[in-house]
Parts: sequence; C-alpha cells; structure tokens
Amino acid sequence: MRYLLFAFALFFCAACDEEPQKPTHIVATTPPVAALLRSVVDPEVEVTCLMPAGSSPHGFQLRPAQKAACRGALLVSTARDLEPWAPLLGARVHVVLLDLLPESQHLSIDGQHEEESELLNQGPIRIRGTHDHDDHCQGVVDPHFWLDPLACAAVLPALTKHIPSEWRKQSEVRLAEALSSLQDLDARLRKELKPLVGKKIVQHHPSFGYFCKAYGIDAIASISTGSHTVSTEEIQAIYRTKDIDLILSEVQLPADVAERVAQDLKVPVCRVDPLGRPDQSIEDIIHSNARAVMDALFVKVQND
Ligand SMILES: [Zn+2]
Repeated sequence: MRYLLFAFALFFCAACDEEPQKPTHIVATTPPVAALLRSVVDPEVEVTCLMPAGSSPHGFQLRPAQKAACRGALLVSTARDLEPWAPLLGARVHVVLLDLLPESQHLSIDGQHEEESELLNQGPIRIRGTHDHDDHCQGVVDPHFWLDPLACAAVLPALTKHIPSEWRKQSEVRLAEALSSLQDLDARLRKELKPLVGKKIVQHHPSFGYFCKAYGIDAIASISTGSHTVSTEEIQAIYRTKDIDLILSEVQLPADVAERVAQDLKVPVCRVDPLGRPDQSIEDIIHSNARAVMDALFVKVQND
C-alpha cells in the first residue's frame, strides 16, 4: 500500500511539474480570421491562413499539408458549425471567435428577424429563416459576424487574451489601434451607406446578415444556405416579391444561379466576396464589400 501511495505521489508531482505545452505557431481558418489576428499579434509573428481566396468553409476539403500545418498551433476559427473540421486538426489551442462574441450581439441565422417582415405576411411561405442552415450555424446563431466592424471589435479584446504573451508585443497599443480603426470604419460606413437604408436585398447565401442589420439594409431572403439551394416554394416567394433592389452573388458560389434570378426579376446583381483574400485587412474586406453594394445600387439609381 505504501509503495502504491509513493508511486501515486510521484506520478502526481510529475503531472504538476509538466507545464501545459504552448502552441508553436498561429493558424487562422479564413482570411477575415487571419486579418483579425494580424491586427493584434506582434507584426513579426506570422499568421498562416488555411483557406485561399475564393474558397468557402462550406464543405472545405483540407489537403494533408494544411492539416499538418495545424499540428501544435494556436488555431483560430470562426464558428464550430461553419468549420466543423477545425477541432480535428491537432491544434494545441483552438479558439472559436463566435464564442467570444457577446450574446447581446448575436443574430439568428435568418438575419433581421424578430418582427416578421411585410414580405413574410404576404402569403403562407416564409422565405426567411425556414431553410435548413444547420450545416453551419451554431444553434441558431448566425456565424457570419465579421462583416460588421463593431462585431469584430467586440471579439478582439477576448481574442487578444488567448494569444501567448511572447506574441503580444505592445498588445495594448495594438488592440486600442485596431478597435479605433474598426470604430472609424463603422462611422464611415454609417455615412456612406445612408442612401441604402431600407433597400431590399436578396442574398445568394446568408452571409450579410450582420452587415445589413448594422446599416439598416433589409436582407429579405437567401437563394441558398451555402451548401444547397432553398426550396422551390422559397424561390417562388422571392419571384413574387416586389421592389427587390439588389441581388448579391458570391465569388465562393456559382454565379449563374443569382444571375438568373436577377435577370428574371430585372434587378441588378452584384458579386461580393464576404471572405476576402488572405492578404487583406479586415477593414479592407468589409469596405470592399460595402463598396460593391454601393456601386451596384447607385448604378440602379442612375438607371431609374
Ligand atoms: Zn455560410
């Protein structure tokens, strides 16, 4: 018995002495995640982005080299259900950004919801929020928060705390700069997007919910969830809708679907890139998408 206790004590001390292993490098799943990390991490430290420009986390197939690149890393992903493959990559620490977004800022997957829109009351068909989006929504929380600068600002302080201290040179200054840059962008977009308040848009895939909510644009429906097209009834409801101002088509998805709907409805279509490129800052990703929407709608105003 005494030996047993001694062995136990030895084992216990060895376990106490063993420091939790620190991550060896930083990996982000998508360009917006990489951009958020770069805004607070020491500029000398490399942030690797797994997904190349134009790819979508929906059904993303990792190559063996990409899997190997995550071993031992601090891996940061967007949402558990958006990147269900992320926990399988052998990262030493895995941070999920959606977990850091305060609940008060969560949107449900169907966007501007709560009160039913006029459109939904026109008939028996709901075209918002009824489709199966559970391939990538965390419960009912919309994971596409990164196109809203203030939602990005809300996750940054908590994200910074997850970065090992040696990669956080001047982190307080960098965090303060990053937050004020996101707040400036929000103020700028509030001004620039004012003419678009109340405009009705149909998205190919519901990635602009937070953006539209933030700037008063009415995201009334989505053509697909990202992995499949919504039902014929839902598409028919889109066709019955009057006064749609714009249809968003995404570079991550085949253009022909959104373009056909836009042609049929004689509504302008605009190709957006909600995930951006790995070399873009988060402000760049958000603003270039806002710019594309503005340009498309101003064209329509001129044509009217
Ligand atoms: Zn999505």
